[in-house]
Amino acid sequence: ERAEVQYYFGAGPAQLPKPVILQLSKDIVNYENQGIGIGEISHRSKTAQSIIDNTRENILKLLTNNGKYELDQLRRDYEVFFLQGGGTTGFSSIPLNLNSLKGKGGYLISGSWSLKSFQEAKRLGSDVVTLYNDKTENNAFKGCYKGDYSKLLEQEDDLKYVYICENETVNGIEYDATIKDLAKACRDKNVELIADLSSDVFSREIDIYDYGVIMAGAQKNIGIAGLTLYIAKKNLLDQIKANGVDSNLPIAFDWNLQNDNNSCYNTIPMVPLHTLNLVFQRLLANGGIKEQETINIEKADKLYSVLDKYSTESTEVEEKQRIVKFTVDKQFRSKMNVVFNLITLELENQFAKEAEANGFLAVKGHRSVGGIRVSLYNAVKLEAVEDLIKFFENFVNKL
Ligand code: PLP
Repeated sequence: ERAEVQYYFGAGPAQLPKPVILQLSKDIVNYENQGIGIGEISHRSKTAQSIIDNTRENILKLLTNNGKYELDQLRRDYEVFFLQGGGTTGFSSIPLNLNSLKGKGGYLISGSWSLKSFQEAKRLGSDVVTLYNDKTENNAFKGCYKGDYSKLLEQEDDLKYVYICENETVNGIEYDATIKDLAKACRDKNVELIADLSSDVFSREIDIYDYGVIMAGAQKNIGIAGLTLYIAKKNLLDQIKANGVDSNLPIAFDWNLQNDNNSCYNTIPMVPLHTLNLVFQRLLANGGIKEQETINIEKADKLYSVLDKYSTESTEVEEKQRIVKFTVDKQFRSKMNVVFNLITLELENQFAKEAEANGFLAVKGHRSVGGIRVSLYNAVKLEAVEDLIKFFENFVNKL
């Protein structure tokens, strides 16, 4: 048992649901009464193999979107595999595997993680271009592309894939429904959509058929640090295999090699993997992604609406209470990471300090951008957000 921290809003690693962490702690000591823990057994043992298989299956079940797709169809069309690492290893593995397609990668830059990913692809010498870059003069990001995606993709000949970060954890920017227009433009042009979902995976329903590859580090919405989840279109993997891979591709990043070896070409970390599965089992038992999405929307709507009430643009409250500033375009506000500033640095520091003292932990913005960041991953309960709102209103009323 542990004394529970009720209000943890960290951006990652993040808090996991209590039943998951309690089960995990038991399984680390003694997995299914085998007298040995889950991190101690061979990843090639029957026990570990069945956990890997079951995790893969649970992911596909979640992606059926409550019956929209048949499980068999997903099994046929998509592969799920896991590699040691996190998001940054994904930044390297993506261009190095996709070099086999012998064409360009077009990056849409909507925040600091997509920018880092692009820089890594470039550093590795891959043929990549920026299709869109939202970075403003003062280094802030405001949102995602708003124009016509099919025209945007026309800009480049020989485009084989488009890369996005679906939720920019540092900047608080997330694709809205216009992502469907991007997916359609990619389909029409026969270009694969490759997405980093490290900070919003399974927080909202997606249509897996919109994507060529999904990559997600585990340690925010779905587990603990140590591995990267990949969901890749089977015929894309086949094409990479047929073309052969770049000789610069590190063997541990080779998607086909890993997938053909049930994610066990090298040692897959079983504690993070088993954690993923506990999270997925719980999501399935609670009604799937759609149910979770409904809660996530409610959490984010409630918080943003109170922040809007006290924003510098507000007409609802007295002037001295208008203390919240947003950089992000409303259309692209993240439901996972609510990022804002207060009108002075002094006030931001005071808020963070008082929040901490009252048990609302980890609300400081990323060190690169400052401000306040409240992360609302799946494990954060609605009640935690409601209590934070009360705390915020009290804070403002004292001004
Ligand atoms: N991508 C996104 C969206 C992230 O939020 C992060 C990390 O925090 C990363 C990539 C990098 O992940 P890692 O620290 O696991 O390399």
